[in-house]
Amino acid sequence: AKAAGRGTVCAYDVAMDNEQQQRRELEHDMTQAIARGEFWLAYQPLVNSQSRAVTGYEALLRWDHPRLGAVPPDRFIPLAEETGAIISIGEWVLQEACRQAATWPDDLRIAVNVSAVQFWVPNLVDTVRNALSISGLDPHRLELEITESVVMRDNDSVVATLDELRELGVSIVMDDFGTGFSSLSNLKSYAFDKIKIDRSFIATIDRDTSSRAIMRAIVGLGHSMNLPVVAEGVETEEQLHLVALEGCVQVQGYLFGRPSVAPAFETRQVSAIVG
Ligand code: C2E
Ligand code: CA
Ligand code: CA
Ligand code: CA
Repeated sequence: AKAAGRGTVCAYDVAMDNEQQQRRELEHDMTQAIARGEFWLAYQPLVNSQSRAVTGYEALLRWDHPRLGAVPPDRFIPLAEETGAIISIGEWVLQEACRQAATWPDDLRIAVNVSAVQFWVPNLVDTVRNALSISGLDPHRLELEITESVVMRDNDSVVATLDELRELGVSIVMDDFGTGFSSLSNLKSYAFDKIKIDRSFIATIDRDTSSRAIMRAIVGLGHSMNLPVVAEGVETEEQLHLVALEGCVQVQGYLFGRPSVAPAFETRQVSAIVG
């Protein structure tokens, strides 16, 4: 028993060391990943819940680490937020997403995730303006997805930044709605354009009536503010049916497509020749 106990402690220590070590390695490698071309953007379609037409895509960051392979964003983005690397990474994401979206048909919108940390530095508006002007993307096609942690700091500079962004013509989406501390008053003072409810509220609605009631309450909260509500993480026809019944205009999820390489659209000229 004693030997087994010691073995367990050792394994635990080793795991701790590995965890610490990998964390440091990731933090270090992240600073070089842009220059080495290891980041790329996957795109997941957003579709109209009635017509199922694709209305746009959400850009989701991917990192192909030379040694570790694909590192999931849930693993490296929190580290990038701690070290501040998210600021330059976020700038790269904005530029890359706008550059690619500018080549798509102009009725398609692009949604880009913006970390709360990017809001704490004063030049976010310049970064967005810059990405728009370099790419030539119509600002009305750009949606910035922000989480509740941004608006929790209920201060004037956040309000000013959001106002300036909206003056540029971009829209602001509250992402992961329902998971944090959002309240009706936050939604009021910040005047979002759209709410995206977190997929944890969608996952079990086709199996469980109480989660269906919670989904309804959250969608209803959005609609009571006259905001369109997007449902994320829709994986089944039944889930689609239920959120569409509640009036979610847009949906996103594996039912319609997983995040994948940038969609290629034939130019009008090419399709005219082919046709
Ligand atoms: P998010 O913004 O809430 O993005 C949605 C996540 O849900 C994505 O995970 C997407 O792949 C996943 N998802 C979409 N539909 C389904 C579905 O039907 N079923 C399931 N099980 N999952 C679905 P992903 O790509 O791993 O990204 C995780 C998170 O990492 C994102 O959550 C976002 O918070 C963050 N993230 C990703 N890219 C960026 C970025 O460029 N900048 C920042 N700041 N954060 C990012
Ligand atoms: Ca998002
Ligand atoms: Ca989300
Ligand atoms: Ca999320």
